[in-house]
Amino acid sequence: MQLKDVLIKNGFHFNKRYGQNFLTDTNLLRSIVDRAGITSEDTVIEIGVGGGTLTRAIAEKAKRVIGFEIDRNLQPVLSETLSGLENVEIIFKDVMKMPTEEIEQIVGGRFSVVANLPYYITTPILMKFIEESDMVDGITVTVQEEVADRLCAKAGSSEYGAITASVDAVGDAEKIMRIDRRMFYPAPNVDSAVVKIALNKNKHLIEDLKAYRAGVRCAFLSRRKTLVNNLMMSFKVDRSTAEDIVTAVKGDVMVRGETLTTEDFVALSNQILLKNLKF
Ligand code: SAM
Repeated sequence: MQLKDVLIKNGFHFNKRYGQNFLTDTNLLRSIVDRAGITSEDTVIEIGVGGGTLTRAIAEKAKRVIGFEIDRNLQPVLSETLSGLENVEIIFKDVMKMPTEEIEQIVGGRFSVVANLPYYITTPILMKFIEESDMVDGITVTVQEEVADRLCAKAGSSEYGAITASVDAVGDAEKIMRIDRRMFYPAPNVDSAVVKIALNKNKHLIEDLKAYRAGVRCAFLSRRKTLVNNLMMSFKVDRSTAEDIVTAVKGDVMVRGETLTTEDFVALSNQILLKNLKF
């Protein structure tokens, strides 16, 4: 039976608040899991299982799938769509309200994340798994195309932002597929794309990730202001201290934060530590 029929049969009503746009094309779903590089050794967590179509495609490849879903009304639907799968476990909880350690305990080892993310919490979910856990090997997520472009942007471009620099500090993001809005049920107003993030916490020599993130936050505090001005605002330092820092990082006191590359942000975080700034 098609997912649409199972949803209708169970009297399921879409809840817009939860960003419920489901993927139903089996070939597309299989190709997402293939491109994610999931193998029979992998434990995968899926955020937002919806009707279970992606879950089934992951379960065909992975050792184990643990899916999280906020909407309990999907329970009868999932009992049908996931029946017969022995390696799947569904947890009906709001993933944003779960401490990361609790998720790690449930999984009990290293894991990958594969998900078609609810659009209203894309960034917080990504940051949760990128910043708060050391157990994640890789993340492959379907997101709105605009977010995908931000994740993979080059320094200085209009798409480049705090999320780009935060992700690039610890991994490599790559847009691996576009998905036309008509592939979703119901169809949203924008197209989507799949982004694969390979995590490598040793990619850069960052002494203190918290200082790095404080530098990133400061640089994008106001895009129109120079980095010197943003430093003065963020860290309550005088102009000459801020100018010293920017000269050490970029050699030009007029630069704006959005032109800083990941290497520059590493240098900025070292300056934050050197000058003992409060963050
Ligand atoms: N994985 C399915 C698919 O690809 O068809 C559904 C994807 S749909 C874009 C996002 C799903 O995330 C919805 O089923 C929604 O109910 C669920 N969701 C939204 N917020 C959530 C949260 N805070 N925690 C867990 N699941 C959530």
